[in-house]
Amino acid sequence: MAVNDVATTELKLRLGSDLDRLTDAVTALAEVNSGSYNPDGVNRCGERLAELLADLNPDRTEAIDVAPALVFGPDGQRNEASVGRAVRSTKRPDAPFQVCFFGHVDTVFPAESSFQSVSRDGTMLRGPGVADCKGGLVLAIEVLRYLDTVDWGQQVGWQFLALSDEEIGSASSLGLLDEAAANHHLGLGFEPALPSGGVAGARKGTVTAHTIVSGKASHVGRAHHEGRSAILALARFIQRVEALNEREGVTVSTGRISGGGPLNVVPDFAIGSYNMRVETTEDRDWVKAEFEKAASELQADSETTLALTWAGERPPKVRTSEIDQLLSDVGAAAEALGFAMPAEDTGGCCDGNNLAAAGLPNVDSLGIAGGGIHSSDEFADVASIADRAPVVAEVVRRALIRHSSERPDAEGKPR
Ligand SMILES: [Zn+2]
Repeated sequence: MAVNDVATTELKLRLGSDLDRLTDAVTALAEVNSGSYNPDGVNRCGERLAELLADLNPDRTEAIDVAPALVFGPDGQRNEASVGRAVRSTKRPDAPFQVCFFGHVDTVFPAESSFQSVSRDGTMLRGPGVADCKGGLVLAIEVLRYLDTVDWGQQVGWQFLALSDEEIGSASSLGLLDEAAANHHLGLGFEPALPSGGVAGARKGTVTAHTIVSGKASHVGRAHHEGRSAILALARFIQRVEALNEREGVTVSTGRISGGGPLNVVPDFAIGSYNMRVETTEDRDWVKAEFEKAASELQADSETTLALTWAGERPPKVRTSEIDQLLSDVGAAAEALGFAMPAEDTGGCCDGNNLAAAGLPNVDSLGIAGGGIHSSDEFADVASIADRAPVVAEVVRRALIRHSSERPDAEGKPR
């Protein structure tokens, strides 16, 4: 299938001459703090996003309340934290080919972060979320705008879905993702480009867990032997689960510990939190079984109790023939415009994992080029929107052609 390079070159030129507007749009989103647990900021950023979307005359734009996220207090108590609303916009829901454009409003920078403002140097922006993934949201909107200018675009219905809790695992938004997977033929995600400019192929899966250990307090000087140290038990558990790293393809990281109190008291409380990465669902099941085993072993030979809580996971994203086809479309479309967007497998994960596991073939890192994400060096190059948006448009066109030839009488997916 030949790349429609006249159309993509035209779009590239059009966007290339409009970089000031795009820069303003990214800045408008990034200058609002929308850290994952800052619902007011997330909602304000969502409102700005809805204003940008209004330009596209969607049939409907909604701000959707999602369930609060589970968080653990310093003493292990389970709390709920509001994550703000997701934004979902739809157009042409009865069109024969349905595409879900997805990204997120939230960032890793909390309301009290010192990294708040956006600075600009030419087309380079530095600021929280400019690459991950507010620049990507703006890029996606330009692709949607383009669809209204071409004939074939009328056969494409879309949903634009920006979640409010992606950076903390999307646990509150799983229902929205499942619904999106069921109602679309293709998913396009606007997470930032990989450092090479490429897109993610396979992605590892992730599992998060917490352990709350209870021991018995006693006076260190007078009755040390009567105490049962929760910290010591936690340390043993950590050693046991970190040893799981010996298995190829499995990563276990103890990311946070807390516990204890006054130093003359045997600590009766400790909490550990873990993040695991796996390449296959077999490995995921194995890691979870090993954690359960370690927990019950520890339980059996000490007088401390250890409560293991699973706190969300993303399944591994495995390359299927459909995903490989999309990745090769991306590569061909980029090549026709004179640059490279290679596919690379990565250990990071995102909503593309969940959508793929729910049956929606997708490419998830079509967003803006930049770097330093999740750090105060985060930057994005707005000029890359002019390169990458045409590639995305071409990927949609090719997928539409394939869809129409495979299923000439296909109805729109039920909504
Ligand atoms: Zn992201």
